[in-house]
Amino acid sequence: MTTALLHPSLGELKTYAEGASEDRSLATHLARCGACRSKVAGLRALREELSQLPTPEPATDLLRRILAARAARYRPLPGFHT
Ligand SMILES: [Zn+2]
Repeated sequence: MTTALLHPSLGELKTYAEGASEDRSLATHLARCGACRSKVAGLRALREELSQLPTPEPATDLLRRILAARAARYRPLPGFHT
């Protein structure tokens, strides 16, 4: 679907920017289309910037809340005994 006149989707460009695309026609399109090359460059720059963000620490009570939610969701039905 990638020709000089028909731009690839943003999803296709994202896959290419991540290095996960083996679509040769996409590479050919990018060689000819400055607009799409610019989008790929922007996606790669954004990915790099996002990778620089700190990883937030989980709340200290996160595990307790997960376990409580799971326990509440999977209570045995009344009358059901294991
Ligand atoms: Zn294009």
